[in-house]
Amino acid sequence: MKQIDGIVLKSTGSWYKVKSKDNKIFDCQIRGKIRTQAIKSTNPVSVGDFVLFIIMEDGTGLIQDIKPRKNYIVRQSTNLSKKKQVLASNIDQAIIVVSLRDPETPTEFIDRFLLSTEVYEIPAKIIFNKIDIYNKLDLEKLDELINTYERIGYNCFKISAKEEQNISEIIELLKDKTSVLAGNSGVGKSTLINKVSPNLFLKTEEISEKYRTGKHTTTFTEMHELIFGGYIIDTPGIRAFGIDFIEKDLIAHNFPEMFNLLGKCKYYNCKHIDEPGCEVKKAIERGEISYSRYRSYLSMMLEEKNKYRQ
Ligand code: GDP
Ligand code: ZN
Repeated sequence: MKQIDGIVLKSTGSWYKVKSKDNKIFDCQIRGKIRTQAIKSTNPVSVGDFVLFIIMEDGTGLIQDIKPRKNYIVRQSTNLSKKKQVLASNIDQAIIVVSLRDPETPTEFIDRFLLSTEVYEIPAKIIFNKIDIYNKLDLEKLDELINTYERIGYNCFKISAKEEQNISEIIELLKDKTSVLAGNSGVGKSTLINKVSPNLFLKTEEISEKYRTGKHTTTFTEMHELIFGGYIIDTPGIRAFGIDFIEKDLIAHNFPEMFNLLGKCKYYNCKHIDEPGCEVKKAIERGEISYSRYRSYLSMMLEEKNKYRQ
């Protein structure tokens, strides 16, 4: 039987919504054993997977194979099996929408998000929204933040979703790519998506509310097709972007501005907290590492819930 190439748009447990190369949508199931990558996951197929499937007599599809993933993001499932739920695969970029006011996004939130994208090896971008309501001080702070983040390799955009300022840059950014959108509640993610692709409506709040009540142990991820080409991945799990499983001694490795200094400190196992002869500390004094980034680093290093392994 002829196998067809497809991409998984939605996963609802045992059924998958798959789009074929010629843009037809099929409801697919999996039967038998599928070769998966070396990861213990609760779901063999995820949103964003490129699959091969056959069409059955009743018109539904049967997924027979999954192509190797270029990357994926996971969430630890809540049960005790230590299995992970793959939330999405083959992601081109992770974008965080932030705002300097109403509500303010703490820089620590941005830095935690960026750390997780480094761990997952997904390119990250930052969109500063609501520039229409920034005062002079906010605008100065904005320039400072953009300088901080662009210097370490994260592209930044300043927009107003509401007033439609610089929206064409965002369309260009999203076009023909698979993007994950993150950001604290109220920063304007839904507004932005509705402006760039009015065919979609991301019911952000509704989904996260359900998730919070804990009624749904499995959350269903969905990829939304943008009218100009490309996909936006919407999943409540991604808003939180869990990094709890990161070992403390890997945190510095995922701060790009610290990476080149590692191993140059006086002590080989320097945690860059209060050790003498610390090159990271010297770089902060020279103004090469921003203090707000270092503050986020410290907060992640000092929090209790992550286990530290020597
Ligand atoms: P989400 O929770 O990130 O999806 O945020 P929403 O898109 O629901 O937006 C939250 C509030 O911010 C709404 O009242 C929007 O009208 C408002 N908002 C969104 N973008 C902008 C913007 O660029 N400027 C201003 N002033 N308000 C905005
Ligand atoms: Zn050090």
